[in-house]
Amino acid sequence: MSPGRRIRERLRLLLGRAVTTVIVGDLECPTCLVLTPHEAHYVAGLLHHVQCESCGQRWEMGHDRLRASYLRALPGRIRSKPARLVQEARNRPVTFAVTIPLRVLSKPARIAGEAGAVVGVFR
Ligand SMILES: [Zn+2]
Repeated sequence: MSPGRRIRERLRLLLGRAVTTVIVGDLECPTCLVLTPHEAHYVAGLLHHVQCESCGQRWEMGHDRLRASYLRALPGRIRSKPARLVQEARNRPVTFAVTIPLRVLSKPARIAGEAGAVVGVFR
């Protein structure tokens, strides 16, 4: 991950917006009719939307399906969180100790951002 993208993600954390993972790749755009760079945006590991970087055309995933997938995965994410935190603390103790206070404080806002993006309140 580039430093610029890392900074943007930190700002999203602080502002309570959904944390998205963006993957860039060439796809054939139905509007441009040629291979163009597209950005695929994921929220909570779920494909949220794809956008052509050439013409700006954007395709949103169905929010009903996203919401169902999100709600299905959420209990597993909650159950596995303690083990993931322990693993992270063992692997990167200094980073873990420095970042955990802000992460704990911002978690409710991040979950709200994820849920908002999944149900279509946030874009
Ligand atoms: Zn296009």
